[in-house]
Amino acid sequence: MVRKRALKLRCPICKTTVKNTDAEFPFCSDRCRTIDLGKWASGAYVIASPVSDTIDGVSDNSDED
Ligand SMILES: [Zn+2]
Repeated sequence: MVRKRALKLRCPICKTTVKNTDAEFPFCSDRCRTIDLGKWASGAYVIASPVSDTIDGVSDNSDED
């Protein structure tokens, strides 16, 4: 009879032991998950804005009228 073993890790935020079966793994709670996301959002990782490569239709005949 094999019992499924739960892997235990520590929450990177508050160091509480978290099981890999936990819904918020690897965080202990939704709160710690939010804190971690806040770290990313606060400039630890700056997401480069995509280069807007707008190509305007170049019209050769500018001779109107
Ligand atoms: Zn935590």
